Amino acid sequence: MLFDFPKRFEIELVSDCNLRCTYCPRHYVNNLTGYIVPELFYKLVDEIAKYPDRVVALHRRGESLMHPNFPELVRYTRGKFAEVQLATNATCLNKPRMEAIIDSVNFLSFSIDHPVLFDKTRVPAKYFSVEKSILKFLDLNQGKVKTQVSMVQTDATPPEYAEEFKEIWKGKVDRIRVYQEHSKGGVFGAIDEEKKRAMRKPCVMPEYEMLIYCDGKTGRCNHDWDGPPMGDVNIETIHEIWHGAKYQELRRQHRELLFQDPVCKNCDSWYPEIGVQGTGMVVE
Ligand code: SF4
Ligand code: SF4
Repeated sequence: MLFDFPKRFEIELVSDCNLRCTYCPRHYVNNLTGYIVPELFYKLVDEIAKYPDRVVALHRRGESLMHPNFPELVRYTRGKFAEVQLATNATCLNKPRMEAIIDSVNFLSFSIDHPVLFDKTRVPAKYFSVEKSILKFLDLNQGKVKTQVSMVQTDATPPEYAEEFKEIWKGKVDRIRVYQEHSKGGVFGAIDEEKKRAMRKPCVMPEYEMLIYCDGKTGRCNHDWDGPPMGDVNIETIHEIWHGAKYQELRRQHRELLFQDPVCKNCDSWYPEIGVQGTGMVVE
C-alpha cells in the first residue's frame, strides 16, 4: 500500500562518527564527515509535522550526539510526531544531551556489544565507561523514554554471547536486540549465503519510508549507504520527491521483481512487510 507521504523517516543529523567499529559499513564509504545545517533540519521537521502520526528517527550513518546543536535540534521535534527515535553509541552522553533526549525522544537505542568483545570491536570506546553512561541515563530517565540495547552478531561472535548479552541487560532496558551483520565486503544489505531467502519479494520500503542524509540528499532505506540519491530536499519538497519519477520507477521494479536499481538489486535484507525483515532477534 502506497502512502501519500512516507510513514517513517530517518533523518541523519551527523554522518561523522567518533568510533571505528570493526563491522561498520562506514569503512566502505568515503567522506562521511557531515553535520546537518540546522535550518535544513527545521524545514524538514516543519514539512513532516503536517503529518503528526509519522515516526521520525534521528540517526543514520554516524553519531547524532556529536552535532554541536544536538539539544536544540532534538527539542525542535518535541510533541510533533507519533514517535521520535534515536540510536547512539553512548560515548557522547552528557547531562544537557541526556535531558534533551528525555524531553523529546520516545525511543532510544544504545548500539553496544558483548562486554568481552566491546573494546576490540567498538574501537576506541571502552566498555566500562559506556556502560557507566548508559546506567546514568537509565537512572535519570526513570522509564520515560523507552530504551533498547543492541549488539551485532558476526561470524566471529561466539553464539552463546547473544544469550549472555540478554542476561546482562534484562530488567534494565525495555528491549534487547541482536542484529545479524548485514554488510559483507562492501555489499550493503547482504546476508550469509545459508541465510539467504529463497524467493525474492517486493520490498515495502519504497512505499513506506524515506531516508534523508545530512546533506539533504535522500536514499532508499537503512541499507542504502551511498547509492545514487532519490532526491534532494534542498531543492524539492519531501512530497515532490516521494511522488517523483525516480520513486515511481523504483516501485515498478519492486512490483515486477525486475531490479536495475544498483542498491536494491544487491540487497538480501528486503522487507516483505512493514517492520518485518526476518533477520535478528528481539527480546521485549
Ligand atoms: S558507532 Fe555506529 S556509526 Fe559509528 S563506527 Fe560504530 S557502528 Fe558505525
Ligand atoms: S530492497 Fe533493500 S535496499 Fe532496497 S529498499 Fe528494500 S531494504 Fe532497502
